[in-house]
Amino acid sequence: MRVHNFAAGPAALPLEVLERAQSELTDFNGLGMSVMEISHRSKDFVAVAAESEALLRELLGVPDNYAVLFLQGGATGQFAAIPLNLTAPGDQVDYINTGAWSTKAIAEARKFAEVNVIADEQASNYSTTPAADTLRVTDGAAYLHYTANETIGGVEFGYLPEAGDVPLVADLSSTIMSRPLDVSKFGLFYAGAQKNLGPSGITVVIVRDDLLGRARPQTPSVLDYAVMAGADSMLNTPPTFGWYLLGLNLQWVRDTGGVTAMAERNQRKAETLYAAIDGLDFYSNPVETRSRSWMNVPFLLADSSLDQEFLTQAYAAGLTNLEGHRSVGGLRASIYNATSQESVDALVAFLKEFERTHA
Ligand SMILES: *Cc1c(COP(=O)(O)O)cnc(C)c1O
Repeated sequence: MRVHNFAAGPAALPLEVLERAQSELTDFNGLGMSVMEISHRSKDFVAVAAESEALLRELLGVPDNYAVLFLQGGATGQFAAIPLNLTAPGDQVDYINTGAWSTKAIAEARKFAEVNVIADEQASNYSTTPAADTLRVTDGAAYLHYTANETIGGVEFGYLPEAGDVPLVADLSSTIMSRPLDVSKFGLFYAGAQKNLGPSGITVVIVRDDLLGRARPQTPSVLDYAVMAGADSMLNTPPTFGWYLLGLNLQWVRDTGGVTAMAERNQRKAETLYAAIDGLDFYSNPVETRSRSWMNVPFLLADSSLDQEFLTQAYAAGLTNLEGHRSVGGLRASIYNATSQESVDALVAFLKEFERTHA
């Protein structure tokens, strides 16, 4: 039996995707081998890779002057790859700090460049995003980096920061493919796949052509965007099974109606869950309304001593992975593309029942 899975990452994948992978696991394309057992240079795998890229371009509307890279090292690897590729020693870079993932990106960037934190939401305990008109981008900064959705804090930007001529760089790990995106506004964005694109082990980087070829000479080749673009992301052995599964997941997105349909579903799921949390006395969400994430919904019990009992009973009811991040505690429901309205409805019914039996 499949449970209602609210994991933050690695996260739920659509059942259809898993069943398709299962059906061709031992015999891919009639080869008598699995996709894991063939060369990444074989024509069958090269076709898988090309189709994944084509689908990603089609679904997100990626213009031709952007490269799509499939890398390793996770989003965390990109925290270093971005300054290595886009700055020279001594360059200034701007960052917006909206929580745990921004903080990590900033700490890594400080190893390589002069970091200006042009907005820091610490005063609200990272429950807010800065007002758009308060952002002052540094003249001559190599880029402006922000975290579009803070997976741990449940804080999501409702707008694209305006950076003028400075390239806009975004960590979209936990929001990519959840709603339409104007790719042309970005210099670069990236996402670890394990939230909303596929399994862990593969990272997507989408970068405008004019930002290629600027890497510092010491940049490891596997993190050098121009090198990886020139090698079609196959400088070395890529994570073939993850790339394949990512492709199946994108087919599912396309067959389900694309990002517009995802956005409609996601908005409805989020509204359902926030309405329940706001409407019940037992629960609260700490995030300012305009910055509430569609993907990650942290919530607190009025009496936190009931957290463990909540999790135990939820688990018994088939609702899994509802604990908050180990750094903040509390509870959190992640409701990425693959989590259905039915799962959210089941969670809401449980919230009501738990309140009724514990109030
Ligand atoms: C999960 C996550 C990361 C870290 O991803 P890894 O692939 O584990 O390095 C970074 N940023 C955001 C927004 C995330 O959700």
